[in-house]
Amino acid sequence: LANITFHPDPTVISLKHTSIGPENMTVMAGPCAIESEEQIMSAAKAVKEAGATILRGGAFKPRTSPYSFQGLGEEGLKLMQQASLETGLDTICEVTSLKALDLAVKYVDMIQIGARNMQNFELLKEVGKAGLPVLLKRGLSATIDEWLNAAEYIMSYGNSQVALCERGIRTFETATRNTLDLSAVCVLKEKTHLPVIVDPSHACGVRSYIAPLSKAAVACGADGLMIEVHPDPACALSDGAQSLDFPEFHNFMKELKTFTILA
Ligand code: PEP
Ligand code: MN
Repeated sequence: LANITFHPDPTVISLKHTSIGPENMTVMAGPCAIESEEQIMSAAKAVKEAGATILRGGAFKPRTSPYSFQGLGEEGLKLMQQASLETGLDTICEVTSLKALDLAVKYVDMIQIGARNMQNFELLKEVGKAGLPVLLKRGLSATIDEWLNAAEYIMSYGNSQVALCERGIRTFETATRNTLDLSAVCVLKEKTHLPVIVDPSHACGVRSYIAPLSKAAVACGADGLMIEVHPDPACALSDGAQSLDFPEFHNFMKELKTFTILA
């Protein structure tokens, strides 16, 4: 179902207010985690004003340590819905369990499957039945073929609205958090009709690399970007070092517009 040989036309994912596909450059932006009403509302307004069309924010956080902030759960989902109503942004939230999925479908516009759950096949089957568009992130050590098979799981359970997100893979290099595999974008464009999103924030983990990597992603043919943005990155409960503040994100979008067909 994901194979371009049998489905040559590019998939366009339709959301409430925007779409993801080859016709426009989608920017999904927002904090790593939803932390409070004030934080998510201010982030929603700032990213909307800068030109993003989808608000990201985690309510169920797959943290490396069990002692780190785990997310606001349903309370966070409600705040995402409120932010969408106030700004007209579509929203995306990661689900880490079947229970989280049941809750998320009530409040957000798109479901994210994170790197750590790319091969959680039972979750993929349920997401396939859930009826909302899905952003499927690449597993930490997943080959492109394994990733496409994960997309196939979702699609074979009835959901054709799937986008793929390259978010960096594990290599021997330690200068960046992960290694952004931009060649994956080129490979995917030959193998699949599904939209491809690049997340340089989680790939490199360093704020200053996000703009150049984003431009490179656009040059490789990415259909969109996912960027972490926080009102006060130094105080963020997760991923502060890779988050842009509002003026930085504004400048980032301005820079990107000279580079793309961004409206
Ligand atoms: C995220 O987008 O918040 C996230 C946890 O990303 P990843 O699954 O790519 O690590
Ligand atoms: Mn994050």
